[in-house]
Amino acid sequence: MAGRYLVRLREPKVSRDDWRRLRRVRQHNPTYMESPSEATEAEALVCQEQRVEAFAEFLKWFTAGGEALTLRDRVDILNEAVAKTYKYDLQDLFEGLLTQYEMSAKDRKVMERAARDMDRRRRYQFKFDPVTIMKTYATKRKAFRKYLEVARRVVEGKPIDRGACAVAGGFRIINTGAFNPKVMKVVEGVVADASEAMRKVGLESLIYGDINVVGSIRGSRRSIAHYSWDTDLVFIRANLRGREGPAEKTVLHELAHRLEKQFDPARGQRALKKLYNAIKDQDEEATRSAVWDRSLWPEKGTPLDKKWKVAGVSIGGRPPAPRVELALLEDPEPLSYKAHVGMANYQRSKGVLHGAFVTSYARTSPSENFAEMVAAWCSDELPDDQQDLLLKAIGEGLGT
Ligand SMILES: [Zn+2]
Repeated sequence: MAGRYLVRLREPKVSRDDWRRLRRVRQHNPTYMESPSEATEAEALVCQEQRVEAFAEFLKWFTAGGEALTLRDRVDILNEAVAKTYKYDLQDLFEGLLTQYEMSAKDRKVMERAARDMDRRRRYQFKFDPVTIMKTYATKRKAFRKYLEVARRVVEGKPIDRGACAVAGGFRIINTGAFNPKVMKVVEGVVADASEAMRKVGLESLIYGDINVVGSIRGSRRSIAHYSWDTDLVFIRANLRGREGPAEKTVLHELAHRLEKQFDPARGQRALKKLYNAIKDQDEEATRSAVWDRSLWPEKGTPLDKKWKVAGVSIGGRPPAPRVELALLEDPEPLSYKAHVGMANYQRSKGVLHGAFVTSYARTSPSENFAEMVAAWCSDELPDDQQDLLLKAIGEGLGT
């Protein structure tokens, strides 16, 4: 139903000839590897102007309603149906503007917000009561108008001079926000180290294209880098001083998602799931033996945090497992109130239980587990048996 609202403008596809030309360029330029999209850079700029105008069209319709839309219809556009289709192109548009044009710090913030707002994976969940709809509509209309105003200003401005950009470890480093040379040097160092780590394990296929240095990763204060699956763009935040180590790991993690994208979709997903389940089995085994290991049980009276202390260990739940009984820290005997926490959680919080996942984030999903494992592998921190499992998964994913 949403189909008729959509204005779709896609970037021109890379032709077979472009690919051949690019391969030749790559062979003759050992320091910098071009990404496939470079072939159409000039076209991409024209394309962005068209996209901005398409966005203006969309906005005109969204606000004035040539087709007599109800308020609810308008909010529908922001919901899933459109998130899958129209917003895809808008994400490309704003991410593209950020990486293709020079802009002031103020405009950059607006464009970063727009790119986040139009993230394809984002889902709007509205309660359909009139007041909420009214409010949402008003806020979105205002935000979209601002995005349009800035986007128009940006496309009329100056494209980033990519020839003048620094190269680090085979990547071109794009300064999208006029960050000073000192800040850029730190980023270049991190990227060069990450690139070196990938080369060492034979992951040259991930080293190409641009790394875009931005003010914040989709508005988050904590995120360090981001890989955009749909556009194959890599983003890294500017201010990394004192966080070079975690930053290098994050770059490796994000580029592991690029490797995942090179997989055959069906085979790749199967391989990553198998890998995840293998690690999960190891993890459950490690957890089982730790929770039943009496030498790892806490003693009565051990404080847990500012509020709780250990009152003892009991066996409970289904299937029966040890759990830690807790009492309020200040509570004298007899205890007035008790609570309990699973032994595994307790041991994890105390750092006694080391599961098999390489980081706690790796637990999240097969895809994140894979990325975390690749990052650890490149950093020479992956146990041998897990490295074997990882290499097998990569082989299966690539179909080699
Ligand atoms: Zn990830």
